[in-house]
Amino acid sequence: MSRSLAARRLTGVPLTACLLVGGCRPAAGPPENPLAAFDGSGGRWVDLSHSFGPTTIYWPTDTAGFQHTELAYGVTEAGWFYSSYAFASAEHGGTHLDAPSHFAEGRRTADQVPLSSLIAPASVVDVSAKATPDYQLSVADLQAWEAEHGRIADGSVLLVRTGWSERWSDRTAYLGTSATGPAAVAELHFPGIGPDAAQWLVENRTVVAVGIDTPSIDYGQSSNFESHVILYAQNVAGFENVAKLGELPATGAAVVALPMKIENGSGGPLRIVAYLPAPPATSSMARTARLCSQRPD
Ligand SMILES: [Zn+2]
Repeated sequence: MSRSLAARRLTGVPLTACLLVGGCRPAAGPPENPLAAFDGSGGRWVDLSHSFGPTTIYWPTDTAGFQHTELAYGVTEAGWFYSSYAFASAEHGGTHLDAPSHFAEGRRTADQVPLSSLIAPASVVDVSAKATPDYQLSVADLQAWEAEHGRIADGSVLLVRTGWSERWSDRTAYLGTSATGPAAVAELHFPGIGPDAAQWLVENRTVVAVGIDTPSIDYGQSSNFESHVILYAQNVAGFENVAKLGELPATGAAVVALPMKIENGSGGPLRIVAYLPAPPATSSMARTARLCSQRPD
């Protein structure tokens, strides 16, 4: 069968699509559907946030927790239903942002952290197979990750998965202690980012933010919060108590992390989500390519 006859047998939209993509060769330029991330056609979103409620985990010194106070609930005298609450919270509890000013005087406050530090590609380092309650991410971990996945991209968010988010429902297992108050801080045990790794990152790579699925980017036994100091001095933002990092690939996902925009805040409650583009084989472009490559018998 001739090519022209074969082309005639490809009818309607597929043929049009073939022509649009330039004779079935990969097309350069703008994506086929610029809104594919938002209309469900290009991939899916994963919520990386724990919800805020009575069991939300706060630092042992923040004993008030998340306060959610009913102001109104029920059917009004006029006949419509109405509910409204007040809430109060420390900035650094649950899934939250650390603004650089949390540990670096003069650096960005919560309202000053730019969108480019909050919306970025993700590099996900998974140490959950070996993380212990006193584990610290090392330079060797980062170099091993790069040997497998390539250089940690400039402008990306580095997310560290320790597996600790699976302990979220068990406060004692998550923090390493059931105690509260100032004396409990010395009893904390959970993994973090080692100061050597933090130093290596700021000297050798350009990440806009780091995130971790534990209460702090420094491990529980840290007494001087060195990784906070090293990273935040360079205006790197932090995301703590992140959830569901196990659903993300090492590369290829993007993060959208939008905190409450608190003026002069040192951090704040954070809704962080990830976008996972569909594999190329299921994208509309690939479908078009398959249609184009069909050879009628
Ligand atoms: Zn914090």
